[in-house]
Amino acid sequence: MKDFKDRINHIKTEFDASLEQVKNKEALQDIRNLYLSRKKGKITLLFNDLAGLEGKQKPEAGKLINALKTHVLKSLDEKSTEAGTKREKPAPVDLTLPGHKTWWGAPHPVLIFKQEIENIFTSMGFSIADGPEIETDYYNFEALNFPPHHPARDDWDTLYLDKGDLLLRTHTSPVQIRVMEKQKPPIRIVIPGRVYRKETSDPTHLPMFYQIEGLVVDKDITFSHLKGTLEVFLRRLFNENLEIRFRPSFFPFTEPSAEVDMNCTVCKRQDPDCRVCGGSGWIEILGAGMVDPQVLKNVSINPEEYSGFAFGMGIDRTAMFAYRIPDMRLFYENDLRFIRQFSKK
Ligand SMILES: [Zn+2]
Repeated sequence: MKDFKDRINHIKTEFDASLEQVKNKEALQDIRNLYLSRKKGKITLLFNDLAGLEGKQKPEAGKLINALKTHVLKSLDEKSTEAGTKREKPAPVDLTLPGHKTWWGAPHPVLIFKQEIENIFTSMGFSIADGPEIETDYYNFEALNFPPHHPARDDWDTLYLDKGDLLLRTHTSPVQIRVMEKQKPPIRIVIPGRVYRKETSDPTHLPMFYQIEGLVVDKDITFSHLKGTLEVFLRRLFNENLEIRFRPSFFPFTEPSAEVDMNCTVCKRQDPDCRVCGGSGWIEILGAGMVDPQVLKNVSINPEEYSGFAFGMGIDRTAMFAYRIPDMRLFYENDLRFIRQFSKK
């Protein structure tokens, strides 16, 4: 029995000494294995040897071994907590270091440009109107004088929704109808907004883009009013003494209709190889015309009493000319190196 007690004391001394030396978790685990592993742990072996003792000595020896085991477990736990919670002292904060630069959000270049356009028109007495992007066939086409099966419908690859006759509007013109249904002349509005067409993106086409269109309806409105309004608008937008020309064209909802061209802002009509105007010196910028009498009748406005003009242009496309950007897709690729060039400080 005395041998057994000596053995226990010896193991305890040895354990305490080696625990002192432990510097990391791996070493701690090694010690745990050495004393407590199920087959060959030093304490496990002591329990095994109990069987060789005489009957009366067994309980006393068992108590001693249990006490040793409790001591070992407790010491290992303490050591492990100590190792786990020990942290390196944090470096003192240097309050004189410069801060990290924070990027603030800014309006998207297309929205900045849209705002500029809106400001010009509101200063000319126009108000801003808005409408839904999901439209019915009636507002997008029929009320604007595109009867079913009219060939002009084929000019636009329309995105139809599954249910009913709903579609994603192909132009902002349905808002003209919605406004004229509710409001009697005089009407002077511009309608900016997103429109959708089933187009494959390329440098000058996108499946979603911004349009702005204008509508004026009042007594004695003539083509001269249209011409004067667009001249003032384009010269203020491009800040140049632009030349403008009107070419005859066709739109179902205006009669007569015109395409509006302006001088090429990139080559100033000087470069026969200009990529933007193709050397012609002119850029097609707007579609316009006098509101077709049938459209006025569709919204119960008497065309004998009132007349009006309407015009429309792509905001993204015009922004390309204004900022001299070669590819419209750049606006939507979210490359911050591109986008940040437009934020005002
Ligand atoms: Zn040009």
